[in-house]
Amino acid sequence: MAKDKKQKNVYLFGNKKAEGNTTMKNLLGGKGANLAEMNLIGVPVPPGFTITTEVCTAYNEKGKEYAIDLIKDEVEAGVKSIEDIMGTKFGDRENPCLVSVRSGARASMPGMMDTVLNLGLNDTAVEGIAKKSGNERFAWDSYRRFVQMYGDVVMGMKPESKEDIDPFEEIIEKIKEEKGVKDDNDLTVADLKDMVVRFKSAVKDQTGQDFPEDPWEQLWGSIMAVFDSWMNDRAILYRKLENIPAEWGTAVNVQAMVYGNMGSNSATGVAFSRDAATGENIFNGEYLIDAQGEDVVAGIRTPQEITIEGSKRWAVLANVTEEERAAKYPSLEETMPEIYKELNEIQKNLELHYKDMQDMEFTIQDGKLWMLQTRNGKRTGGAMVKIAMDMLKEGMLTEKEALLRVEPNKLDELLHPVFDKKAIGNANVVIKGLPASPGASTGQVVFFADECDKYENSILVRIETSPEDLEGMNIANGILTARGGMTSHAAVVARGMGKCCVSGAGSAKIDYKTRTLVADGKEFKEGDWISLNGSTGEVYEGKIDTIDPELSGYFGELMTLADKHSVMLVRTNADTPHDSKVARDFGAQGIGLCRTEHMFFEEDKIRAMREMILADDEAGRREALDKLLPLQRTDFEGIFGAMHDLPVTVRLLDPPLHEFVPHEEENQAEMAKEMGISVEAIKQKVEDLHEFNPMLGHRGCRLGNTYPEITEMQARAIIEACLNLKEKGITTKPEIMVPLTGTKAEMKMQEKIVRTTVEKVFEERNDSIDYMVGTMIEVPRAALTADEMAESAEFFSFGTNDLTQMTFGYSRDDAGKFLPIYLDKGLLDNDPFQALDQTGVGSLMKIAVEKGRKTRPNIKIGICGEHGGEPSSVEFCNTLGFNYVSCSPFRVPIARLAAAQANIKQATWDKDKAVDQLKDSTKNVGDVLGVEFTELEKEARKAAKVAHKETEKEIKRLQSEAKEVLKKLKKELKNFKK
Ligand code: PEP
Ligand code: MG
Repeated sequence: MAKDKKQKNVYLFGNKKAEGNTTMKNLLGGKGANLAEMNLIGVPVPPGFTITTEVCTAYNEKGKEYAIDLIKDEVEAGVKSIEDIMGTKFGDRENPCLVSVRSGARASMPGMMDTVLNLGLNDTAVEGIAKKSGNERFAWDSYRRFVQMYGDVVMGMKPESKEDIDPFEEIIEKIKEEKGVKDDNDLTVADLKDMVVRFKSAVKDQTGQDFPEDPWEQLWGSIMAVFDSWMNDRAILYRKLENIPAEWGTAVNVQAMVYGNMGSNSATGVAFSRDAATGENIFNGEYLIDAQGEDVVAGIRTPQEITIEGSKRWAVLANVTEEERAAKYPSLEETMPEIYKELNEIQKNLELHYKDMQDMEFTIQDGKLWMLQTRNGKRTGGAMVKIAMDMLKEGMLTEKEALLRVEPNKLDELLHPVFDKKAIGNANVVIKGLPASPGASTGQVVFFADECDKYENSILVRIETSPEDLEGMNIANGILTARGGMTSHAAVVARGMGKCCVSGAGSAKIDYKTRTLVADGKEFKEGDWISLNGSTGEVYEGKIDTIDPELSGYFGELMTLADKHSVMLVRTNADTPHDSKVARDFGAQGIGLCRTEHMFFEEDKIRAMREMILADDEAGRREALDKLLPLQRTDFEGIFGAMHDLPVTVRLLDPPLHEFVPHEEENQAEMAKEMGISVEAIKQKVEDLHEFNPMLGHRGCRLGNTYPEITEMQARAIIEACLNLKEKGITTKPEIMVPLTGTKAEMKMQEKIVRTTVEKVFEERNDSIDYMVGTMIEVPRAALTADEMAESAEFFSFGTNDLTQMTFGYSRDDAGKFLPIYLDKGLLDNDPFQALDQTGVGSLMKIAVEKGRKTRPNIKIGICGEHGGEPSSVEFCNTLGFNYVSCSPFRVPIARLAAAQANIKQATWDKDKAVDQLKDSTKNVGDVLGVEFTELEKEARKAAKVAHKETEKEIKRLQSEAKEVLKKLKKELKNFKK
């Protein structure tokens, strides 16, 4: 907040000097800070000055008069500085100084605020520019653009109602009609002069004010208009979406105008220091001779390449012969070799200076190169990894810096198929759901899981999926559901398989009977092609080709580096040997969650499982469990075998039993026959198992405590599998995990059943192995009483899917109905099933970790909810000192990188915290003594210097005293000897 006139409010730059620098983004905005910095490193930048963000805040709080009074002298000095450097004069009729006035906030807010260009033009200055440039058309074209822009931005010349067209555009159209021309470029100088006159009279008519001729009036009007634009609707909305505080305010940059459209010796362009698509270390970009900045992006003329190499590559792709290329589309390197050389030097310096790939804008005015902007360039996932690793090898970045350069979530692009860029161009989005599992897929619509093999490429479309759909999901190219959130069955399973999935597409109407999907008014029948983007949630009509990812060597190098810098391990959630192997190949250090229920859905297992559930008594259940035991044991042998030498956490049966029973008549009849009982009896049993709220019902450890024989069978299957593998020389590290505990009694009972069973197996086999018993923390009560839970749990694994569900009271299955609206209305910042709610759920986790460690200091702690692969959640787990995070196989690389970044950030944070604490305590001393911190610091430094000198003096004094003593002693010794 600006306090008084003594405070500096305007920072000058130009002629390779600047009062600001790149670290001053908060005060000068991103643009202003970078303009200053470019000057400091010797880059030619049109001179100018930046009015600070604090002035904007003062303007908003205290008004226009106050703000002008605050900065008047400094702005006048700023204009004088531009005039001196450019050799021009503001408002001069011979040699006028023209400026641009642009916004520039701390965070980039592209196109949200206002800009005024060509400021300083008036009826006399325009003649001066015409003479000086020798180009009357250019002068009048700039003038009419200025009047239009100023009229719009500063004088509020907007259409009166939304049906009206822009008053200036109306005049332009009218003149063109009168002259019988189509294009603005066909208007003559006289037409442009006429246009200015008509523009001004329209301004007078609509606003009652004359268009200002005085450049100073123009300047103050524009500065205030840019401040005002901080509070326009567009900017307010953008800030809301991007979480940018309104208090930040915008800076205003006033800068000398330079023109790329002053003839054949002028040009304008954009350039990148490396290839933003591939990451290749090659300077590239496009330019146009005799053009303005927007012409390059507008696509009216074909932009030319900057380098010869780029130009030749372009010609091959565009099917242009070398002769034609050289004649019609030569590179800047060929047309302006000297300027090219200078530009090439600048791009190298800028990249070296910012230690990142730069995206730059430049203008060449009459043979002189000016840099208008530089910023870190956006890039693809592949380019991001390559650039970071190349810069590390080039010595530009340290290992830690290189790791922090890579956005973990962007690695997804490297791991999954993506749409062919050309093919996606004309594609039409028909519906949007949740980006449940990343990647792109295309296929023919099927509505039933057991029909997924009907087509070579199928997309399974369901209202929601259930465990019975597993096999079909595995066959389909992608999955689309109308219901369910990010932790719905479809989402969780698809992520595990690395399969593209869009879930919760609420407005999709799916009719199983007619086998139709209606989206956005369009009907899709079985067999019609649709395409899914699981990374954005978009669903397209038609077939869109996809491209398979190719993992480069850079990716492996990045992963090795990540592991070197992280403390937390990354495990995976996997239920099959295949998924385990995929995850291991991605670098998983074990399994953090094997959901045993996923194993029960194959043909022979589901029958035995149903038999167990439908049995009338314990004896019946045991009989069915005996059939399941060898099947489970074989499954475990597969998984433990694939994960040999690494820990595997197997979770005991968790879901409500009704999920396994047959709901369709056909299956019920089959089951009745199998079990030798009536269909009615089966129906009755299914009805008995129905629950109103199954997620809070008979599930988790409640199953194992009411039917201990289930836990016994599973514990036996796990340990027998491990002992069998041991006989083959394979090492296993089983961790048996009890789900959904909420009281210590529940946990103790499960622990006892497990341990008794395991001891029995050891005795039978006369052999043993190490194993652990632990629990999931997914019920809030378990978190709050974690000290008690840790009495029998050797490890905790946070099941943050359920913990989020129960902490918020949002059903995992139904949240899709209201969460999007909540996010839209700003009631929630994020979907808490995607990014961990650190404030609420995170507090419970913190309590649980602290309490658990009190009882068992070395308790192993991990997370296996879907948050285990989400970067901000991984960072949170690192701050709590977790041993590992566990996530679906295809998120393992993301989590590995996130774990490394978390650790690097935490180390910096810890250091900063220590420094802050030191500063705080010094400040406290200062407060007590009644001196300013800075004063105290100065005093302390002085005192230290004095003390140092004093000490040196004292040492010297002591040394000479010691010498004297020694002399005396020697003398006395001589005397004594005599
Ligand atoms: C959890 O609740 O976070 C969890 C991992 O278990 P599930 O998703 O299987 O309920
Ligand atoms: Mg759970």
